[in-house]
Amino acid sequence: MKIKSVNHLGIAPKDPQKAREFFADRLGLEASGSENVADQKVSVDFFNCGESRLELLTPTEETSPIATFLEKKGSGIHHVALAVDNVTEWIEHLKAQGVEMIDSKPRSGAHNTLIAFVHPRSTGGVLVELVQEASA
Ligand code: ZN
Repeated sequence: MKIKSVNHLGIAPKDPQKAREFFADRLGLEASGSENVADQKVSVDFFNCGESRLELLTPTEETSPIATFLEKKGSGIHHVALAVDNVTEWIEHLKAQGVEMIDSKPRSGAHNTLIAFVHPRSTGGVLVELVQEASA
């Protein structure tokens, strides 16, 4: 079992419009779609960045966890997503070590992935997402 790579960074900008312009127009990153995640009250814009990706997170409602994040912590990196081969195995592996999971079972993520979040209480305060690509 090995962490393969950084799959993506989830970024919560105070000014999403300006951030989109910067990543797309100034840096020339390829936009690879947008998605509305209803249960998180967030819209996500994806940008390909080599082997990795940036996800711009924009709250769609004031009660969105991303709105809370922006209020509490300000603009910045919201989570780091690490690619794994088997997210279920990783959940068990981490739980066996006493790590607290937000998701104790994998759930569907964007782009046909299986994901699970690790609780920041167990990581030193960083929100970590484990991502399994559908093909893996
Ligand atoms: Zn993510």
